[in-house]
Amino acid sequence: MRLAVAKYSVYGSKQAPLIWCADTLRLFRAHPSHVDLLAELADRVFTEKDLKRFSRRTVGNNFDGDVHRDLIAWGLIMPAAPLELARDQSERAEIVGFRIVVTEQCNLSCPACFSTTALRLAKKPLRTMSLETVEKLAREIVQYGRHRTVAMQFFGGEPLLYLDRIDRAIAIWNEAAERQEMCPPSLSVTTNGYAINARIISFLKKYSIEVGVSIEVDENAHNFNRRSLTGLSTYSEVSAGYRALSAAGLQPHILLTPYPGQEEGFVRKFELFLDRFQPTSLTINTPFEMDTLAWLSGSGHLALLLKCHRLAQELQISVDSALTPCLAAIGHRRRRLSPHATLGGDIMVSVDPEGHFSFSTHKWDSMFRLSTPLTLETQWAAECLSCEARYLCGGPNKEFQALSGKTLDQAKCDFHQGFLPLLVENLGLFEELPSSSDDIEAY
Ligand code: SF4
Repeated sequence: MRLAVAKYSVYGSKQAPLIWCADTLRLFRAHPSHVDLLAELADRVFTEKDLKRFSRRTVGNNFDGDVHRDLIAWGLIMPAAPLELARDQSERAEIVGFRIVVTEQCNLSCPACFSTTALRLAKKPLRTMSLETVEKLAREIVQYGRHRTVAMQFFGGEPLLYLDRIDRAIAIWNEAAERQEMCPPSLSVTTNGYAINARIISFLKKYSIEVGVSIEVDENAHNFNRRSLTGLSTYSEVSAGYRALSAAGLQPHILLTPYPGQEEGFVRKFELFLDRFQPTSLTINTPFEMDTLAWLSGSGHLALLLKCHRLAQELQISVDSALTPCLAAIGHRRRRLSPHATLGGDIMVSVDPEGHFSFSTHKWDSMFRLSTPLTLETQWAAECLSCEARYLCGGPNKEFQALSGKTLDQAKCDFHQGFLPLLVENLGLFEELPSSSDDIEAY
């Protein structure tokens, strides 16, 4: 049989190398002999007989294991033909969740709102989902929950301004679940936390809706980025809203965004923030801007997230960030086939107030409506084919390509290509790793 070496990279030290395989998303603790033999064999096609000869010549007497057998067992030496096939997976998307924009209207007026800024600039009215659309959408969604629990995330604008819409959708799913047409969905809502009251709290408790509150890293950042309709500060009200949700036992999740200009001292502020709010879980959003996807450099973003993850881990706070999809891909050994995929081909669909489906955050809804059947249609660049991070990254964002006219977003590439060196230097830090550590195999 003709054999070849899979694409691999070596991290760690010369004496204690870690070998990464981009095609299988596996990381191995190796002996220097494994690295020597891989280097000897790379870019060749060979047979098992050749392999034994190479193995003896390259390895000498410094390792008493069976180097070439290890490499075969780890999938680093494999039949030559499937190397080409490895890139060629189905690009059908599997929908695992819906981010439903109930309304674009809001009781705040945040200058950097990615939901409404484009509409405001274009002087377009902010939309709210009609009850008729809610009913049609909720019924359409039932089919996606037939065999799995689908995540329904109510989003805005401020979705809690329209409890009647949320109530109607849940009633339809509850009836469908009773008829066993779907698994009961998991429910969550993302709120600005400005108008939390007893009625809202009892509504959230009634349906066991998980709640995420957007709060910025300190009072100044919050008051600058999250203003009332009359331009006033909102930090006190939002903090009080968060505390009311906590007191009611709802364990609110926090969503926080490092906005441009906050990199100075952000980590120290984040530490104080964790101490002040003591959340059980939080999301650090990726800092988007209107025409580029990240204002931080890829390496700056990685460094910031690493420090934040480390602080949160010390306090046993669960953190979700741009690192999470990469960790999940390795943890589950499922390749990301699209930048919109959270895992393999799993995607969260955004639904705008008119019921249109999109891959994207709703700023780009009209540009990236989903087709039926749903396909991922990633526009891979030539550079992606030889990129060792390609299945952690999922390829370039179509939004970026359309908005910038460029093929690759260098900040995104720097982020994903810097991820593996960061990971191998911090094994054990990330929550996803216990499941993936089975795959970090010792020789
Ligand atoms: S990191 Fe850049 S080059 Fe690599 S797969 Fe992603 S978009 Fe392509």
